[in-house]
Amino acid sequence: MFKVKNLQVKYGVIEAVRGVNLEIKKGEIVTLIGSNGAGKTSTLNGIMNLVKKDGIVEFLGEDISKLSTQKIVKKGISLVPEGRKVFVNLSVDENLEMGGFYNKDEGLKDDIYNLFPRLKDKKTQLAGTLSGGEQQMLAIGRALMSKPKLLILDEPSLGLAPKIVLDMFRVIERLKDEGITTLLVEQNAYIALKISDFAYVIENAQIVLSDKSSNLLKSNDIITKYLGG
Ligand code: ATP
Repeated sequence: MFKVKNLQVKYGVIEAVRGVNLEIKKGEIVTLIGSNGAGKTSTLNGIMNLVKKDGIVEFLGEDISKLSTQKIVKKGISLVPEGRKVFVNLSVDENLEMGGFYNKDEGLKDDIYNLFPRLKDKKTQLAGTLSGGEQQMLAIGRALMSKPKLLILDEPSLGLAPKIVLDMFRVIERLKDEGITTLLVEQNAYIALKISDFAYVIENAQIVLSDKSSNLLKSNDIITKYLGG
């Protein structure tokens, strides 16, 4: 469904992403794990054309490498950025409406409120007054309002309490059951590997390992480096 070939992202002389290849099959959760500064966010920003990049990105058999971010979203890929970036001065409801800019579908908003009942209770509350977990749910809800076929999540667990992290990963699993394909970027390698089908490991701007997540959970190298073993 989705392929990245030889992706490169540079900031001046800094090579943040060097020759990254990724593949995602329909209906899968694929995770990209790596430590701080490894190149995870730059990979996502390159895919979405939020930064200048080289390389090929294919989605549903079409080369989308050169499309604007707006057109990429319209094609069915939606990114939930690191740090959520909800519109703090807009209400919960208005934030969702912003996400549905290209897709006026009232029924969809109801579906999202069913997925996140806490947001429904706080419809008129300003997003900036929500807890970190609620803001993360709202950011995911806003992304879902564009009806993505591929949802990309950049470090959704960052800064959240452990219980909230579990709730959020349950939501991601539920989205999988509803047929949404997900690319998940995480530093929290254990939980990311637990819920994903396939994983890529990025170190110093390059993919160093890729395998079924269940295999990586058993790999000594991964246990030592990423799982605190
Ligand atoms: P984190 O988990 O901290 O977000 P990451 O794996 O997402 O890390 P990136 O944010 O992609 O890593 O950063 C990769 C490298 O590129 C790092 O060395 C970082 O300092 C550098 N970098 C990121 N953004 C910029 C920028 N706008 N200008 C210059 N260098 C940047």
